[in-house]
Amino acid sequence: MDGFRALPSVDQFLLTDAGQALTAQHGRTATLLALRARLDAARAEIAAGADGADVAAGIAAAVAADLDAASRSGLRPVLNLTGTVLHTNLGRAILAEQAIRAASTAMAHPLALEFDLDGGARGQRDDHLRGLLCELTGAEDATIVNNNAAAVLIALNTLGQDREAIVSRGELIEIGGAFRMPDIMSRAGTKLVEVGTTNRTHPRDYEAAITPETGVILKVHTSNYRIEGFTAEVPAPRLSEIARKAGVPLLNDLGAGSLLDLSRIGLRREPTVAEAVAEGADLVTFSGDKLLGGPQAGFVVGRKDLIARINKNPLKRAIRLDKIRIAALEATLRLYRDPDTLLERLPTLRMLSRPQADIVAQAARLQPQVARIVAEWGFDAAICDCASQIGSGALPVDTIPSAGLRLTGTGGDAPDRLSARLRAAPVPVIGHIRDGALILDLRCLTSDQALLEALSAA
Ligand SMILES: *Cc1c(COP(=O)(O)O)cnc(C)c1O
Repeated sequence: MDGFRALPSVDQFLLTDAGQALTAQHGRTATLLALRARLDAARAEIAAGADGADVAAGIAAAVAADLDAASRSGLRPVLNLTGTVLHTNLGRAILAEQAIRAASTAMAHPLALEFDLDGGARGQRDDHLRGLLCELTGAEDATIVNNNAAAVLIALNTLGQDREAIVSRGELIEIGGAFRMPDIMSRAGTKLVEVGTTNRTHPRDYEAAITPETGVILKVHTSNYRIEGFTAEVPAPRLSEIARKAGVPLLNDLGAGSLLDLSRIGLRREPTVAEAVAEGADLVTFSGDKLLGGPQAGFVVGRKDLIARINKNPLKRAIRLDKIRIAALEATLRLYRDPDTLLERLPTLRMLSRPQADIVAQAARLQPQVARIVAEWGFDAAICDCASQIGSGALPVDTIPSAGLRLTGTGGDAPDRLSARLRAAPVPVIGHIRDGALILDLRCLTSDQALLEALSAA
């Protein structure tokens, strides 16, 4: 029982150099809490037979480690080596320098958010983005909300509350995070009218479903799946004709919604937002932090009279954007005005368009150094081909040729052990496990040094 005497009292510990240093760095309250917890654990260890002096010798380091871990933010940066460029769980788009500066200024200063500097009267916060959005999409007007889920919700609620919304059975999507189109429609107060079948929907299906109760026809981008084989969908221009003839608005939810023709960066062509507008949709909805490469936001662009109705909807106030994101969006949208510098300035498009040869060269450069680090843990590192994905429901079944490092070790749990170790690093390294190996896809790695430092500290 004498072993307990080796443990310092709380007061004694706080008076030591280590205790003073920890108090200065982390504050007295946090240090006390961490110390008490460690002393309790130490007493339990000694009671179980551990040597008192040994346990006491480890107290200061253990308290310091606990305090360091607790003071590290859960939101600290990670290295996204998953191969998914727009990873929803890792925060989707990385912002451009210009957007970061604009957001940072908006955080630090008062600004004319809803204040007309010319006339001194009250302005609208959306005005800062409206002109740019109309210019880049060809739409008559635009409104901006918290995210695309909110954009769809408010558009449906405005056009279809207590009325019917017609949608193809092949487009009743569920996106991750409990966004299910039928649920959103019900919360928007619209009655869902399903037409067609899972694989085939025809113009006559829509036409037959239109009644005096129809408030809106909805077209949804099937973001995270593709129906293949014996299929038919009604193209937007044809659907727009049907809607116009019936005097019913057509809402096209694009989801990722690119402002740039993706074939320019070697990806599959999809209608851009401007094309969706030109194809005759009355309203088009899309995200700010998917292919657009900005902060989280949702846009509704289209007919002026319909946008005016959305802006009058009381929901608008509940889902409007804050000044920080408006500033970041304005700077992001401005980049699209200069297509020649866009790919180099906008990280999302820069990463998506990065040539495989460039990534292979990076993998070859890093392999010997990474191999040396992981060898100490009993792992090997080899160069491998990878298949990156865009993520966030853009071109779901397409992959982009990439390259990376394949880390292997002995034992069936080797990839899981390594993955856990890298996740626990001060700068966590996030890869993905495939075929018994941990794969680090280097598409999104902008600095070799960052990976080497993160691995060395893991
Ligand atoms: C991603 C997506 C949404 C939701 O957008 P958020 O910006 O994540 O809210 C809605 N509809 C479609 C078709 C999508 O792909």
